[in-house]
Amino acid sequence: MEKLTAVSFKGKRVLIRIDFNVPLDANFKITDNSRILGAIPTIKMVIAGGGKVILISHLGRPKNGPENCFSLKHLVNHLSKVLEVDVAFANNCIGETAETAINNLEEGGVLLLENLRFHSEEKMGDTVFAKQLANLADIYINDAFGTAHRAHASTAVIAQFFPESKYFGLLLEKEISNLEVILENPQKPFTAIIGGAKITGKIDVIMALLDKVDNLIIGGGMAYTIAKAMGGNIGNSLVEEEKISLAKQLIELAKSKGVNLYLPSDSVNANKFDNNAETNTSEITNIPNGFMGLDIGQESIAKFSEIIEHSKTIIWNGPMGVFEMPNFEKGTREIANAICKVTEKGAYSLVGGGDSVAAIKQFGLADKVSYLSTGGGAMLAFLEGKPLPGIEAILS
Ligand code: AMP
Repeated sequence: MEKLTAVSFKGKRVLIRIDFNVPLDANFKITDNSRILGAIPTIKMVIAGGGKVILISHLGRPKNGPENCFSLKHLVNHLSKVLEVDVAFANNCIGETAETAINNLEEGGVLLLENLRFHSEEKMGDTVFAKQLANLADIYINDAFGTAHRAHASTAVIAQFFPESKYFGLLLEKEISNLEVILENPQKPFTAIIGGAKITGKIDVIMALLDKVDNLIIGGGMAYTIAKAMGGNIGNSLVEEEKISLAKQLIELAKSKGVNLYLPSDSVNANKFDNNAETNTSEITNIPNGFMGLDIGQESIAKFSEIIEHSKTIIWNGPMGVFEMPNFEKGTREIANAICKVTEKGAYSLVGGGDSVAAIKQFGLADKVSYLSTGGGAMLAFLEGKPLPGIEAILS
């Protein structure tokens, strides 16, 4: 496949599917612009090549047509500032409104089209809608890794209408090459750290990683279901009763595959889900009744840090505790610190998934890991070895 750097954009209408699904506060101010920053290199490249940039994205989860709170118009000023170009906006991503705005675009100009998900056809992967989008442009670029695991109209279905002119954006290319390091050539010892609230949604990747890693560290809410599977008393901690037998299987499978499975040995507990709750520390399998585990304890931090310190490749998805509350962030912070320290010494570390990325940013450590992935679900699907429709559609 031809590389984006070899493409001539001069005078061409270039449709770029970016992921501008950014968090906005009540005044529509962007609270984390990393997804926008991630897309800038591709956009700038097309501008520099004299192309007409047409940006398409989704934002949030609109239910039934246009909703002001999900309008991409709230991003226009910020995007204009970052790009140092006046970005035009059209309040529909298809039809006459979009076509007129594109006709008014000059070479090197940038137009942002309204939220794709204001049309339900987007998520349905509707071919007619995809064709309407495709009719707007001469070249299609997919730079939205965060949605690459979805077979939506703008991420996958559309590519068939650009048989000779469909490309990965620079961000998508970077995401793929970083994940390939993990899948194809990981230096050993290879350690995966998986946390977050639930086993559901992560079990497939955990199972897939068992074939690749030397060490598997599990923390966060999901550790309590495993502790219960081991016969422990976990008080009021988060538990997925229906996943207990799966947790048992996981323990057995890790053993049979020779993977070292590390679970927290101790837990910081609270009598309610509140930063100011009464707290205590106990063994994870011996949590007092009336208390719930909200973070890993000091002993677990020390053990996990030691494993991380001796690793050459690390992948981290999901916090070790409720890091959003200052009194329960320590486990996540210390694990992040351990990852950064070993990265400094030459290990390769990849962090992905919305919450781990949010945590590492909260601790000011974002530039101290080897790679921060912009995709949560997409990253997990890639690691599971599942084909990602957004990637397949460009390659086919
Ligand atoms: P996920 O989206 O599955 O990665 O889960 C991330 C969320 O898990 C974060 O919002 C954490 O606050 C939450 N979390 C982590 N540990 C726990 C715990 N022990 N109990 C409840 N929630 C947790």
